[in-house]
Amino acid sequence: MDLRAGSFPNLGSFLMTNSQAKRPRHGGCHCGAVRFAAILPDNVVALSCNCSICAKAGFIHVITPGADFRIMHGEDMLTEYRFNTGTAKHYFCRQCGVEAFNVPRSHPDDWSVNLRCFDADAGLLPRFQEFDGANWEAHVATINPELAPDGANDA
Ligand SMILES: [Zn+2]
Repeated sequence: MDLRAGSFPNLGSFLMTNSQAKRPRHGGCHCGAVRFAAILPDNVVALSCNCSICAKAGFIHVITPGADFRIMHGEDMLTEYRFNTGTAKHYFCRQCGVEAFNVPRSHPDDWSVNLRCFDADAGLLPRFQEFDGANWEAHVATINPELAPDGANDA
């Protein structure tokens, strides 16, 4: 019996229905000038953060690996805002003011896409999780163990 995936004619349809199968999910800002695509499975963690900017903007994070995110159009419509350490890059549509995605301080090589900005048919099944970003240093390891304070990961 040949166990290579190619020998299973139904594997393709299985992958299409598997909620862990990744596919492009589209979304954008309010006015439509900025559009993005993020390659994600159906089941995603949605981080509700209480830091100074997320609390005011209502941004809900879906962390997306850098290689799995694309700005489809409107990059020239973005304006950038930084504060505090300057690590996070907040991008706003200069026309409608919506922040559809950013580069988060917790994952500076990745993107965080605003759950609220995906198209209605994106098909995401978010599992909400609180992140105490107001006390970022003490809690960042809960969402990125690589950023644990010195010694916290020592065995
Ligand atoms: Zn816009």
